[in-house]
Amino acid sequence: MKIATVRSVCECQARLGADLDERYVAIRGWAKEPRRGRELPAPANTIGAGQARFDVAWMCPVCTRNVLRSFEASGLAFREERKAG
Ligand SMILES: [Zn+2]
Repeated sequence: MKIATVRSVCECQARLGADLDERYVAIRGWAKEPRRGRELPAPANTIGAGQARFDVAWMCPVCTRNVLRSFEASGLAFREERKAG
C-alpha cells in the first residue's frame, strides 16, 4: 500500500500529521504536543478525497479544536509502506 503524509500546525502549536492512502483517505492521524513533544493520536478525516484540492480535518487532542487544512493532490509524495519484518 502506498501512503503519503500531510503535516500542518494547529493554532495551539501542536504539530499535526496524517497518513493518507492512495485515494487520499486519512488512515491515521496524530498530534505532537508543543511543549513535551509527546505524540498523541488525533482523529483525522479527508474531505473531498479524489479531488485535485482537498481538505484534511483533524480533531486536535491538545486543545480540542477542529483544524481544517487544504492540500493539493499534486503535492503529495507517496511512498511504499512496508511492514516491519
Ligand atoms: Zn491544537
